[in-house]
Amino acid sequence: MYVDLNDLALRPGQRHERTYALELAPVVVGGVSYQISLPAGVTVAVDRVAGGFLVMVAADVKVYGPCARCLDEVALDTRAEQQEFAPTTKDGWGESDQSAFISGMVVDVAGIAREAVVLSLPSQIVCSPSCLGLCPQCGQDLNEKQCGCAPAEVDERWGRLKDLLPPGGPGA
Ligand SMILES: [Zn+2]
Ligand SMILES: [Zn+2]
Repeated sequence: MYVDLNDLALRPGQRHERTYALELAPVVVGGVSYQISLPAGVTVAVDRVAGGFLVMVAADVKVYGPCARCLDEVALDTRAEQQEFAPTTKDGWGESDQSAFISGMVVDVAGIAREAVVLSLPSQIVCSPSCLGLCPQCGQDLNEKQCGCAPAEVDERWGRLKDLLPPGGPGA
């Protein structure tokens, strides 16, 4: 989804604000894929300021996927917001000042929204901060009941050795 800033015909001090429907592909957090939905769409606000355009992209986000600890279904609400600047003239602006999502005054709204969503997510998505997860030995969901397995004793030397072997074991 793209917005051309020139099409908005804003004069200095003027603002354009509009909400668009937008679908985003799943994002991957900790190696697991999560569905993203923007129930109220994405709001794009453009301010014509001295030297260029300030572009603000914001959305309420719903994230669906498994809890990283117990694999239970999680629905997480977050707020994604990101601001980008598009100078009207290249003079005086370095490469790092240029938004990666704006080229030739055309704004990649989906690209900004996607980055904002990723930045708004925690590094691990869990059903509850106190989730106990699954027993690593028998797989019991420890939020439901204790399983009676002895606490896992990890032998450091064996753990190291396993890392050195090829996947699938010796000779694989
Ligand atoms: Zn959980
Ligand atoms: Zn167990």
